[in-house]
Amino acid sequence: MFEHLAPYAGDPIFRIGDMFRQDQRQNKVDLTVGLYYDGKGRIPILDSIHQAELKRAQQPETRQYLPMEGLPSYRSAVQKLLFGTECAALNEGRIVTMQSVGGTGALRIGGELLQLASPNSEIWISNPGWDNHHAIFEGAGLKTHTYPYYDSVNGVLLFDDMKQAFQTMPEASIVLLHPCCHNPTGADLSNAQWEEIANIIVERKLIPFLDIAYQGFSNGLDEDAFAVRLMASKNIPMLVANSFSKNFSFYAERCGALSVICQNTTEADRVLGQIKLLVRRIYSNPPLHGARMISDVLNDPELFAVWEREVNEMRTRIRNIRQKAYDILKVQAPHFDSAFIIRQNGMFSYTGLNQTQIEKLRADYGVYLIDSGRISVPGLNEDNVTYFAESVSKVV
Ligand code: PMP
Repeated sequence: MFEHLAPYAGDPIFRIGDMFRQDQRQNKVDLTVGLYYDGKGRIPILDSIHQAELKRAQQPETRQYLPMEGLPSYRSAVQKLLFGTECAALNEGRIVTMQSVGGTGALRIGGELLQLASPNSEIWISNPGWDNHHAIFEGAGLKTHTYPYYDSVNGVLLFDDMKQAFQTMPEASIVLLHPCCHNPTGADLSNAQWEEIANIIVERKLIPFLDIAYQGFSNGLDEDAFAVRLMASKNIPMLVANSFSKNFSFYAERCGALSVICQNTTEADRVLGQIKLLVRRIYSNPPLHGARMISDVLNDPELFAVWEREVNEMRTRIRNIRQKAYDILKVQAPHFDSAFIIRQNGMFSYTGLNQTQIEKLRADYGVYLIDSGRISVPGLNEDNVTYFAESVSKVV
């Protein structure tokens, strides 16, 4: 029955991660998958979450099903975190937020909702971008296109080309945007550039779909929500997918949310209803544990303060290791322009290394980055940053 199915080639990022695991060298360096590692190379367990778990363990609760749209206290906390407390759409009850299975689940349900509202919807994704965006939206039945975003050879944002694309794409096109820590380039728009993009979106009646998977990793929890809050203030229909995988170090708990800004509360009721229907048909209702822990942290001022401090520490560590890598590269490879690493933000940097250099790094030095030349910066730490920089200097 299934013999004719095509073999799955595997996800290109996870494939290189597998190569890393099979490498026996002691000094190998993993810069492939977007995981945050602490200075000792461990995936942290956040103290805020640990404290929330200890508290809950004192009074175990039953595992009743959650509503299709998720845990209410989680959904409202997500809204405040993304939109702030001053948001008119939020205060008027026009934002619908559902608990999703990771950021990926939010993108997929959002794609399904768009396709349901306007069959044959078309979505524009940055080039370069996160490959899975194409797969997720094609899976939901949308046609995907790309808009120019970043020149990887010269290491610059193509802001004029991006604006030009937004000005010429058909009205009601959906545009996928990363509010902070662009994956894969680490190159973000300035607040002034966001203003320009938001104005074009309004003028051209485009529909923004914002994907925020690294809130807090660029400049701070509120600062990184700038684009979300700006667009929300423009009274345009929009969708926001957010993920807690990185900023709560909560990868396997699959916690995210989809928020949809509607024109009025009647529309919001309909949107919530259709979201429930979509969820009911796919997985019925979401899991409890992770959402309850995040809700406990976000809704308790003391635990929130602990979490915010932890996010700040993660961000600072990434900044410092970027600087260190740059300082070493400047000396080791003076002819190689490595300033990109301190110009770019968040988890990722786009090195501009070519395929031959990337393969040589893997084969000769055990330094693993993905084919696009993207590195996941938190894979670097005090113990391996010098080796990384020396290895790069030998291939450039
Ligand atoms: N969007 C972007 C831009 C991402 O980088 C990621 C994670 N790699 C996601 C969404 C998905 O996040 P999650 O793991 O929570 O599904």
